[in-house]
Amino acid sequence: MGSSYAFEALIKSLRGAIQSFPDKRTGDNLRYTMEDAALGAFSVFFTQCPSFLAHQRAMQEAKGRNNAQTIFELENIPTDNHIRTLLDPASPELVFPVFDDAFQILDKKGHIDEFRVFNGDLLIPLDGTWFFSSKKIHCDNCSKIEHQNGTMTYYHSMLTPVIVNPGFDKVIALAPEFILPQDGHDKQDCENAAAKRWIQGQGKKYSPLRVTILGDDLYSNHPIGKLLLDNGFNFILVCKPDSHKTLSEWVELLEEGVDRHTVVIRRWNGKLWEVYIYRYANHVPLRDSDDTIWVNWMELTIIDDNGEIHYQNAFVTNHKITDKNVENLVLCGRTRWKVENENNNTLKTKGYNLTHNYGHGKKNLSTLLATFIILAFLFHTVLEFTEDRYRLIRKKLPTRKTFFDDIRALTRYICFNNWDHLLNFMMEGLELRLDDG
Ligand SMILES: [Zn+2]
Repeated sequence: MGSSYAFEALIKSLRGAIQSFPDKRTGDNLRYTMEDAALGAFSVFFTQCPSFLAHQRAMQEAKGRNNAQTIFELENIPTDNHIRTLLDPASPELVFPVFDDAFQILDKKGHIDEFRVFNGDLLIPLDGTWFFSSKKIHCDNCSKIEHQNGTMTYYHSMLTPVIVNPGFDKVIALAPEFILPQDGHDKQDCENAAAKRWIQGQGKKYSPLRVTILGDDLYSNHPIGKLLLDNGFNFILVCKPDSHKTLSEWVELLEEGVDRHTVVIRRWNGKLWEVYIYRYANHVPLRDSDDTIWVNWMELTIIDDNGEIHYQNAFVTNHKITDKNVENLVLCGRTRWKVENENNNTLKTKGYNLTHNYGHGKKNLSTLLATFIILAFLFHTVLEFTEDRYRLIRKKLPTRKTFFDDIRALTRYICFNNWDHLLNFMMEGLELRLDDG
């Protein structure tokens, strides 16, 4: 049966990135390589098994070989303490090229283009999420909140950009942008500063691919909007009336049917009839200033036959809005929530345990391990898109949890020659054939 090109290519890319990790050790203290430490940590996240390395150590004693070696290419299995000490100096940015390689693998096979929406754009929501907080444990890169009673909360948060599509339950994770302590004092300052860094930094390489950035109300301000346009991005951003008084008043003063338009669509939602009322207006000022950027505004209100409001939200965009595209543009804007549901939630609750403290370190460990966790999720996404056997197995097993439970049990008891061997073993056990797909 077929060979596992993607898995091998991704591990190779990760090994390449690890070679750029700083290693200040000298003398005899070199029993474990940097690859051992980094691939060891990664294997724990990829298998979703916190005791993966302990199991493989036991297997090594019993059988003289182990899956950490055969699948993840470790030479020796380091202890958790060795891993933490060795990895702490490595900045997470050193791993970012692996995200690019994963993106290339998907792009070459046309899977990135599958995510394009009606107007040909890719949708990338920006959203901040916490992944660590503690009253005691902290490092050089912790953000902190000083409480009235003198105590401190230390935390880490990051932007987790992903590529989404309204019709897909899968997302493609991009490298995170960490929110740094010097970014500002409140949530909005911090997140905005990180977003600005991303737009001009690692995000910039995506804009030539035609990208619409999605964001909530805290992104729909003049500096972010202008920066997005200057860097070649399109945008659809939530625009609450309270935080956009000038724009809201402007919109309400426009003449209906001339400068402001309404499209009404009746829809059966499976239980009852709902009425979707779209209102939009092109060319309105985002704020009250001479240098304001001009945006296009749209609003969706969903009511039932009794007039009760089920949903209401408004967005601003640089895409020109028409009777024909308003429905799709609003749908794209509403897809923002997928970064929370399909990405951040998966990372936190679906076995990846993003918020679990695997070790904090003094400098980079916490952010590096968070990056590895996102990368492990991305590796599984790439495999699901590019590898028929992987996809068949995932489809056959009832849940994501069953899949990872099986990986955990199998790699505890059997030593496989490589990732390929493991997949073939599962295919045979499940009586699956490649032409079943
Ligand atoms: Zn920290």
